[in-house]
Amino acid sequence: MSLRRRLQDEPKTVTSHIGGRFVAAAGKPIDIVDPANEAVVAVLHEADDAEVDRAVSVARNAFENGQWRTATTAQRQAALMAIHDCILENAAELAELESVDTGIPLSQTRGMHVPRAAYNFRFFAETINQSGGDVFTQEQGILSMVTHEPIGVCGLIGPWNMPLGLTAMKIAGALAFGNTCVVKPSELTPLTVARLVELVSGLLPEGVLNLVNGRGHITGAALVSHPRIDMVSFTGGTETGRAILAALAEGIKLPAMELGGKSASIVFADADIDYALNGALLGSFMNNGQMCLAGSRIFVQRAVAEQFIERFAQRTGRMAVGDPLVEETEIGPMINGAQCERMLHYAESGAKQGATLLTGGRLHQASNRGFFAEPTAMLAPDNDLAICREEIFGPFATLQIFDEEDEVIAKANDSDFGLVGYVWTEGLERGLRVSSALRTGTVMVNTPIVRDLRTGFGGYKMSGLGREGAKGSRAMFTEEKATIIARGKRQFPHMGLNG
Ligand code: NAD
Repeated sequence: MSLRRRLQDEPKTVTSHIGGRFVAAAGKPIDIVDPANEAVVAVLHEADDAEVDRAVSVARNAFENGQWRTATTAQRQAALMAIHDCILENAAELAELESVDTGIPLSQTRGMHVPRAAYNFRFFAETINQSGGDVFTQEQGILSMVTHEPIGVCGLIGPWNMPLGLTAMKIAGALAFGNTCVVKPSELTPLTVARLVELVSGLLPEGVLNLVNGRGHITGAALVSHPRIDMVSFTGGTETGRAILAALAEGIKLPAMELGGKSASIVFADADIDYALNGALLGSFMNNGQMCLAGSRIFVQRAVAEQFIERFAQRTGRMAVGDPLVEETEIGPMINGAQCERMLHYAESGAKQGATLLTGGRLHQASNRGFFAEPTAMLAPDNDLAICREEIFGPFATLQIFDEEDEVIAKANDSDFGLVGYVWTEGLERGLRVSSALRTGTVMVNTPIVRDLRTGFGGYKMSGLGREGAKGSRAMFTEEKATIIARGKRQFPHMGLNG
């Protein structure tokens, strides 16, 4: 029997996992539905303030009195590699569970998200082996050492759109640098992170990895305002990020924020157009378009605009929309009905503000159950329309025509967000020039969506604070300590000799 069928027959119970075991189901029950058919596949029991407090206390005790903080690099590496192996051993189950929970096509969860989740642990296992400090010497016999110490108990809060991969990244980074953590996944998609914690918590000392589940304003708010956490690493929407920053300011806690985006994808006339078309389509519509780094604000240079836009619209209209567990599916369901409505609303508002609907803009008719919307493309007359400024978070691309390089750079930068920029050109010099002009944390030239963990990922402007990746994660998950050592007795003015 398929995993989906089993979950429909007997919905999974999802509770907090504290100190190595699931707690009894007690809190408010919340149905978790498969967005492809609206069947209940799990019931989440929400953690209240007391349960969050228990999770933080266990993590605190494990940090202060346990062996993880003081473990050798080799011990931590061995545990991280065991988690890596465990994810790969359970890859088929995790991929199917992720697709049932999120609606992301199985080809993507199996081909990318699950391997990526595993790779995070291997990457950080390798990183800590090479992650040293600094030593400065001075003529006066002073040795100044800079070392990086675990920051403490980390609150790790994830979004619904790529729950396993994004949360695994946070867990791997926090653990690698010697911290303990309390993880809170999205209440919309809690299944794979709960399964991951269940699978791997026995590979770690007790209390190092803990999980709480529930809605943001209840469980999430209790976690971020808890006095005994030391930092929060958050991935989610900009508005939520603002609320979390306010809560952290109260306790002078460090935030790391990976927030929203509205990334420009600039197609110059000198690009390889077939290649750029494929890249722009993937960059807009992968993960059902529900991606912070979607390059969904596409600018095309006038000389190639007509044919590019026509072909983009045709290909968008031909995408295979359907059940994420079917191999050929390219676009699965939106996460819920509200997200579908949101997409339709943007199509309507775009048309009212002067944009032309090229394709889509309606619910998908293939099934009367599930949250399916047609992949949508609109031609926008300028950058001021809401569809060009606000994050839609669905399979929805806007296209605009430009003439000059300076003009398109100004338009691409005319955004509250600054997560990613995409540039399509055969001119390397142009690629580098435009990259340095774009006010975004990452620029990808002639490629959609490459995530090299050795580089930091994060945003300028309202797209976030801090970077995730090797050095960025170390900055996020450690405190920097300076130890100043006199190597011999120093000559300094003696005080109080005349008293
Ligand atoms: P969201 O902000 O609604 O929720 C994210 C998480 O925060 C959830 O776990 C939620 O329960 C929790 N939360 C909500 N209110 C909270 C509060 N007051 N205190 C503590 N926690 C709270 O975001 P979402 O809708 O789940 O995810 C989509 C958003 O995430 C998009 O804006 C997308 O761009 C962004 N995102 C960013 C990145 C990135 O790396 N920059 C990656 C993926 C998604």
